[in-house]
Amino acid sequence: MMMRTTTTCATRATVDIERLTMNSTDPTRSVKKSARTTSTRRSVVVRAEKAYDYDLLIIGAGVGGHGAAIHAVERGLKTAIMEGDVIGGTCVNRGCVPSKALLAASGRVREMRNAEHLRQLGITVDGAVNYDRQGIADHAENLATTIRGNLERSLVGLGVDILTGAAKIEDNHTVSYGAPGTVTGGRVTAKNIIIATGSTPFVPPGIEVDHKTVFTSDAGLKLDWVPEWVAIIGSGYIGLEFSDVYTALGSDVTFIEAMPNIMPGFDKEIAKMAERVLITPRNIDYVTNVLATKVTPGIPGEKPVTIELTDFKTREVVDTMEVDAVLVATGRSPYTEGLNVENALNVELQRGFIPVNEKMQVLDKDGKVVEGMWCIGDANGKMMLAHAASAQGISAIENMMGHEHVLNHNSVPAACFTHPEVSFVGLTEEQARAKGEEEGFEVAVRKTSFKANSKALAEKEGDGMAKLIYNPATGEILGMWIFGLHAADLIHEASNAISTGATLNDLKFTVHAHPTLSEVIESLLRGSEGH
Ligand SMILES: Cc1cc2nc3c(=O)[nH]c(=O)nc-3n(C[C@H](O)[C@H](O)[C@H](O)COP(=O)(O)OP(=O)(O)OC[C@H]3O[C@@H](n4cnc5c(N)ncnc54)[C@H](O)[C@@H]3O)c2cc1C
Repeated sequence: MMMRTTTTCATRATVDIERLTMNSTDPTRSVKKSARTTSTRRSVVVRAEKAYDYDLLIIGAGVGGHGAAIHAVERGLKTAIMEGDVIGGTCVNRGCVPSKALLAASGRVREMRNAEHLRQLGITVDGAVNYDRQGIADHAENLATTIRGNLERSLVGLGVDILTGAAKIEDNHTVSYGAPGTVTGGRVTAKNIIIATGSTPFVPPGIEVDHKTVFTSDAGLKLDWVPEWVAIIGSGYIGLEFSDVYTALGSDVTFIEAMPNIMPGFDKEIAKMAERVLITPRNIDYVTNVLATKVTPGIPGEKPVTIELTDFKTREVVDTMEVDAVLVATGRSPYTEGLNVENALNVELQRGFIPVNEKMQVLDKDGKVVEGMWCIGDANGKMMLAHAASAQGISAIENMMGHEHVLNHNSVPAACFTHPEVSFVGLTEEQARAKGEEEGFEVAVRKTSFKANSKALAEKEGDGMAKLIYNPATGEILGMWIFGLHAADLIHEASNAISTGATLNDLKFTVHAHPTLSEVIESLLRGSEGH
């Protein structure tokens, strides 16, 4: 390992098809028939309205675009999807999917090397538990390839035309496409266009990325090597998940966080517990209130990566660090470059994001709806999560069909897939109390531990808590946070309740199978007073 030259990071820590309501019902008005529309839904002849090639063109075949395409076909729209790279976008190729594969494999290594935990279950492992780095990397790549293939087959099977090339919008019904920098692929017209172009990693100024020793999640997910000491800039969910992978595979990790606390977006109490379990006992330390203002790549095994640390408040350089590698996990930037929305649609990008209203309609610089234009997913910045992108796509389709729909983003759950996991929906306790104070309502909190749950105890995984934040006067669920075994699977009871408007009173007599982890949620619901 390289020498740690920093002096400040001493703290240990880190888709019946409905009739073509949108199309003309007069078959003489049809224009082109999709080459593939008869392949799966043979009883349905999907035609686009006379003036256009398609009812719907989706730009970007990530999870948002894919989810929208499936729903559009269900709604009888003649649909095309345009993709400048590979099907699947960030989630499948450079995000959710490969990261979960790395977490699954490295998590198994951690578990099998945890002799004490195994001993408590009456298990001993004779000999060393080893892993094959390339084998784990291959698992992640193979999974992405499989899921990318599944997505592409589902689009083809549903009769969605896949147009290959980067899109350039000409007006609100016309798009040219071709290889990046050219528009030689052709030009298509559509009654409605959804922009679903996603995002790319954000790299702050001063950080030089060589994709080898200084890299973002894109390269990190390839797991080309396992550095002995890796500094992770940013302690959000991407940074945290990588810390879980790296420490399980034997790396030391140092978090560099600009905010006063690590895991700054988390409910404070949950962050505290996550620190106690995910940070303190592992080879992780952290430095907070500092920015990595200059990062110079190194050469693996020969020259360290140097990091200049600057105080967040005073903006004075306070320290330097030398590490083997740096993962830049400082958020994501919308990928809207080259789309030409400014010129073609009179839209003013907001830090690169495309402004939309609650129906996902694109707004121009005067705040007026651009007829026929929609934007979903990371490109609008409302909620940068895969399932949010897909849900926004479904919502946009419903609205363009004339079925008014507004997605309640407060009901969209989120999760961090560490071991154990963190999940939440709605507000943190801090946000709920601030809202209560502002709007004049009381906030109540109810907590329960995984220690009282039989299934968790059978697994010897009692470290965990669930927290319910609600309005005691109405029983409205304001938020739920869970830290513990399979927290990501447990959060949906609360997110469905928020989505359907179910109160604590509605939920408290629901029955959960025994013994299951879901009883953690039951104990939260039953313990609540009055509702
Ligand atoms: C490491 C990591 C882990 C993550 N883990 C999770 C997770 O566990 N759960 C979760 O919910 N989210 C996770 N996310 C976030 C998730 O990946 C994104 O929120 C999601 O992919 C956004 O979907 P999207 O459809 O908006 O965009 P993307 O998936 O980015 O797809 C956009 C597509 O548009 C294409 N495109 C862009 N511009 C053009 C153009 N001009 N013409 C044609 N095509 C174009 C791109 O090539 C891309 O294929 C993770 C992200 C990362 C980086």
